[in-house]
Amino acid sequence: MGTLEKLNQESKYQIELYKSQISSQQEQIQQQEAKCKSLRQQLEQTRAELEKLKQEFNRSIEDKVTKHKFELEILEDFSRKIGYTFSYEELFHSMLEHLNELVPCDVRGGIITQDKNCNIYLESNRSLSKNLIAEIREKLVNGLTKINGWNLSQDSISLHQIDHKKVISKEDEITEIGSHFLVPIIADPEEKKQIIGLLFIGDEKKECFSEDSIRLLYAIADRASISVQQLRVLLAAESSRLENEKIRANLEKERALNNLKLRFVRTISHEYRTPLTVISLASDLLEKQKNRLSEAQKLKCWQRIHSAIQHMFNLVEDVLLLDSVEAGEMELNQEQIDLVSFCKELVEDFQLLATRNQTIEFNYSGINVEVYADPKLLQQIVSNLLSNALKYSPEQSKIIFQLTFTETGVTFCIQDEGIGIPVEDIPRLFEPFHRADNVGNAPGTGLGLAIVKKSVELQRGEINVESQLGIGSTFTVKLPLKKVERD
Ligand code: ATP
Ligand code: MG
Repeated sequence: MGTLEKLNQESKYQIELYKSQISSQQEQIQQQEAKCKSLRQQLEQTRAELEKLKQEFNRSIEDKVTKHKFELEILEDFSRKIGYTFSYEELFHSMLEHLNELVPCDVRGGIITQDKNCNIYLESNRSLSKNLIAEIREKLVNGLTKINGWNLSQDSISLHQIDHKKVISKEDEITEIGSHFLVPIIADPEEKKQIIGLLFIGDEKKECFSEDSIRLLYAIADRASISVQQLRVLLAAESSRLENEKIRANLEKERALNNLKLRFVRTISHEYRTPLTVISLASDLLEKQKNRLSEAQKLKCWQRIHSAIQHMFNLVEDVLLLDSVEAGEMELNQEQIDLVSFCKELVEDFQLLATRNQTIEFNYSGINVEVYADPKLLQQIVSNLLSNALKYSPEQSKIIFQLTFTETGVTFCIQDEGIGIPVEDIPRLFEPFHRADNVGNAPGTGLGLAIVKKSVELQRGEINVESQLGIGSTFTVKLPLKKVERD
């Protein structure tokens, strides 16, 4: 074999070698590519799984956040609402309502001690059997007794059952509790002092409450503890304020009574002095000068004694009348009255008594019907008002007495052109023995208007006064008198 041929053969061999090497490398590349492809597929799959996991994770976080947000909102709402409660009952109502939103369950309730009482509040979605109520009550009382070592008497425990939200039927009644949970309400939560109550949830189903439910129950109980503490402070402050007010009112009453007594003694002694002097002088005269006095003079003395006694008698009558009204002993004796005739007669009597050329004009308006009224009380009202109008008005003045029949009863209005009443005296005008400073020498004890006021009140009416100094006064009495129905 020539050299050329040898070289050619070698080259061929080399080429074959390279070819086989190339094909094996190509095979390797193909294998690698297949591997790469499968890896890429695996990667894709893993990425998709990861994406799914991520989405699930996000969703669960979102759910948790929404749930927590919802819980927080309810707890916040609860805190806000119980911040405004002024009684344990309100507090429990609000607490149980919020509890039901957070931990839906068949029965929820609680026990709380306040003063010497122990209250149990229960709320359920369905009606509860009597035995079950007794069982829950016992659970709560025993629970509290065990914790505090108290001996709660049965009389001190009262049960407040709050509405059943959806009472369906008697058959739907809950008779047994499958699971329940109790958490404490503490008097002074910060110092973890005495446990004064328990909060309770119960359900017919067994193992019904998750850790979450219990966590929420504790959150409600914690807030309730704070609120109970606030309520205790508030109620203590309120009760001491009421106590103080009571003491102040009693003192004020005592002071008013003492003033009244003082005014009574002063007025009576003052009012009695004049008639007593008259009686004393006239009887002296009758005794010592009896032979020198003419029959006419003797008669005059007897008349003076008589009118002085009458004056004293009237005064005592007034005081006794006022006393009987104030003691609630005065009874209402209603009868049918023709008011127009009744008033006309009184006006005629007073017109005869008017010595200073004063005139009383009587008018009435509306439909004149008979009414049911107490004649004695009516007489007290009209007589005292007419007597004042005459007494505190100048000579020749006019008094207008207007009677009006209204839809709701009758109105008496007595208007004079007299001295008027100082503004500062108006609020005290109806107090016994109160007289304004401008009365001058006009006699009086200050009892008339007090009697009028009581007589008006006894008939469930009202009295008003309008007055201007030096111009005159108007007294208006409204009485809701029942009208006699005509056939
Ligand atoms: P009495 O017990 O004899 O009636 P009084 O007339 O003084 O004595 P009230 O009738 O209670 O007592 O009246 C209380 C006071 O009200 C009077 O003293 C007077 O100051 C004032 N007053 C009442 N009516 C009038 C009136 N029409 N005009 C002005 N002042 C009046
Ligand atoms: Mg009077």
